[in-house]
Amino acid sequence: FVIPDFAGFTKHIEDFYYKCKSNSEGKVASYIPQLSRMNPDYWGVSVCTIDGQRFSIGDVTVPFTLQSCSKPLTYAIALDKLGPDVVHSYVGQEPSGRNFNELILDYNKRPHNPMINAGAILVCSLLKTLVKPEMTLAEKFDYTMNYFKRLAGGEPIGFNNAVFLSEREAADRNYALGFYMREHKCYPEKTILRDCMDFYFQCCSMEADCESMAVMAATLANGGICPTTEEKVLKSDSVRDVLSLMHSCGMYDYSGQFAFKVGLPAKSGVCGGMLIVIPNVMGIFTWSPPLDPLGNSCRGIQFCEELVREFNFHRYDNL
Ligand code: GLN
Repeated sequence: FVIPDFAGFTKHIEDFYYKCKSNSEGKVASYIPQLSRMNPDYWGVSVCTIDGQRFSIGDVTVPFTLQSCSKPLTYAIALDKLGPDVVHSYVGQEPSGRNFNELILDYNKRPHNPMINAGAILVCSLLKTLVKPEMTLAEKFDYTMNYFKRLAGGEPIGFNNAVFLSEREAADRNYALGFYMREHKCYPEKTILRDCMDFYFQCCSMEADCESMAVMAATLANGGICPTTEEKVLKSDSVRDVLSLMHSCGMYDYSGQFAFKVGLPAKSGVCGGMLIVIPNVMGIFTWSPPLDPLGNSCRGIQFCEELVREFNFHRYDNL
């Protein structure tokens, strides 16, 4: 086993869980009603090791929409199907140093990276226009959802239509980003912007719980092989690229500090979720809706700090 004393390990996870439970900082996202109604007390942590040992505590079977936690997944699919050269001729690899939805492109007039809204919208255009272009929007939705499911070892992935409709209604900034990128000819030819935006909102509105998300994180930790089904879902080169950008850009404008303090690839979302990867060891998913001013889950960040205080999981521990 990759974690020999798993019971002892999970005892620590439980301690961290209760320590963070009493953290009442942060505010639940309020830009759409479905998110603003989320109970701020929801708090769940799930762990899945690369050899399939699992542990969960708290609200781990309550579904939430993936929001920005879908960004590394759609990016992974694009890499796997198109290769990094094609993908990165459209989108950069640089942290933006700005908010996740800032109206800004890099000096080449491309989105900075696939982990912020502009880059993720662009990745959606690549998936829609370049990966199996003959597919309708409906087929592309099924295709993507199935991919997410395989990453999660076949565990259920849902779709929240109310959130999708609200996202689309409350999307002035995202549309502004979409048009701004069209003005600068960022998209592949034949991109239909409205379809691409809908596809982006649909990816944000996919639904899962901590348990299945931890399996996704573990698939990434395991180089693209799902630990529960042993299916090779992604090429290891694609996973390497995804983890690299999660490490440098996954936590919005806290990414640099997170890389310094925690030293693990992670991706947060306005749902309050955090996808955390300990390469070659395990995947972790934490979910707690209250967010700090930068948009990261308060309890999730605290959990990661507790984790690396106790265990040498930081990329540059053990030197
Ligand atoms: N649906 C959200 C948006 O596009 C996702 C952003 C996020 O999770 N930070 O604004």
